[in-house]
Amino acid sequence: MDTGRIIPIQSTAIEGDGMGCHAGGETLLAAAKAAGKSETLAQYALDYPRQQDAGPHDQPQSMCPAFGSLRVGLRMRRTATILSGSACCVYGLTFTSHFYGARRSVGYVPFNSETLVTGKLFEDIRDAVHAQAAEGELDAIVVINLCVPTASGVPLQLLPKEINGVRVIGIDVPGFGVPTHAEAKDVLAGAMLRYARQEIQNGPVAAPRGGRQDRPTITLLGEMFPADPVIIGQMLAPMGLAVGPSVPTREWRELYAALDCAAVAAIHPFYTASIREFEAAGRSIVGSAPVGLEGTQEWLQKIGEACNIAPDLIAKSRNDALHGLRDMLSRQSIKGRITLSGYEGSELLVARLLIECGAEVPYVGSACPATPWNAHDAEWLRAKGVQVQFRASLEQDMAAVHAFQPDLAIGTTPIVQKAKQLCIPSLYFTNLISARPLMGVAGAGSLVQVVQAAIGNKARFDAMKSFFGDAGAGHAAGVWEGVPKDRPEFKAETRRQLEKLMKKRKAEEMG
Ligand code: SF4
Repeated sequence: MDTGRIIPIQSTAIEGDGMGCHAGGETLLAAAKAAGKSETLAQYALDYPRQQDAGPHDQPQSMCPAFGSLRVGLRMRRTATILSGSACCVYGLTFTSHFYGARRSVGYVPFNSETLVTGKLFEDIRDAVHAQAAEGELDAIVVINLCVPTASGVPLQLLPKEINGVRVIGIDVPGFGVPTHAEAKDVLAGAMLRYARQEIQNGPVAAPRGGRQDRPTITLLGEMFPADPVIIGQMLAPMGLAVGPSVPTREWRELYAALDCAAVAAIHPFYTASIREFEAAGRSIVGSAPVGLEGTQEWLQKIGEACNIAPDLIAKSRNDALHGLRDMLSRQSIKGRITLSGYEGSELLVARLLIECGAEVPYVGSACPATPWNAHDAEWLRAKGVQVQFRASLEQDMAAVHAFQPDLAIGTTPIVQKAKQLCIPSLYFTNLISARPLMGVAGAGSLVQVVQAAIGNKARFDAMKSFFGDAGAGHAAGVWEGVPKDRPEFKAETRRQLEKLMKKRKAEEMG
């Protein structure tokens, strides 16, 4: 085991545990830059740009970004994932992983102020990686630096690249550098693709588990409902194309197959680092997805052109796909106004599909940024009068619900909660919309069904509201033994104390 010398960490580092999301992004960012992470953070700023001229709410509300990378690692066969970060962050991330059915242990290398600033933490991580590599048959070990170790400059790039044939991938995924958990998936997927591409350049690599496809393949970018790649494969077949792996992949050797494609479909448009690797491998990228009539036509055309398919075969593929869709849409449609917001990155595709299924969609908000791969979808939506908000904040999503008074609000947890309070039927985007098929006839059919059923619940909300009235609202919220009493004098006193505290802090800051 290589236990080498201890690498000291910059003394400008954040000292000790307990600095986290609440410490202020700017403080952590400055510390990370001073601690030698400037290059990584500059690349993140280019790959995952924040909203220009943003106000105080410039950070979209999403879960801890590192969850995206962690989830990608945990879903891969023969891959161990180790976190390096504050205990509270690791607790939350582990909890969320198991909530989403990880069925795999999350590795953790704890630290304290001393091990952080002396560089011992890096040594502990290196020891953990060696121990893990020796333990069992693994393809890869992923080590993820969370906020504090990133801000302190813990140099994961100095970990060995390989131990006994086990690849070691160290990445920094700080909340102050990677805005959403969606983009954090790209951080790890991109790092793995880069590694796999270098392996391909260095010599022969393993074939896919089921052997190589005999037809040219299209690699799909983004986590999708399992039926979607199958549906896409059926649409591609008339052009003589097959569907390839989806990235993030479920196994290391799929990375080689993903790179060995005819073209890449950026179904989720925020995989900037991954796209960089595919472009370096000479692959062309096609944005958007086969959703709805127009979306499917355009997408199949672009895929066919990217793969130099004869026009008559492209036309056949389009016609075959459209036949079923036209039939389905003539029989079923959505009637109602819907606002839509989420942080998965597929919001624009869902909005397109909703509109093609008959819905009125005045607003779509995505926590993800505008990229070249969603530009066409944004343009299509704007031409239909939709307000498209990239890097949407909770406040903007909430304002849209108030302004447009939809029949259905599709959104994140706080949006759904707010909409329910307003007696507006709502659906949680992550669990109820992005976890179902979206492509082709199956996608349209399933979306129409779930949306119409939700809109039909309006009368139940009204009945509940009239039954409960204002019970449990405002000062009466919570659990009471007696009849709740409003105490305006307590509120006034608390406000007075807070104002006093703020004045004291201000005075201390000034001097
Ligand atoms: S790692 Fe996640 S939970 Fe921890 S401080 Fe950073 S953003 Fe917050």
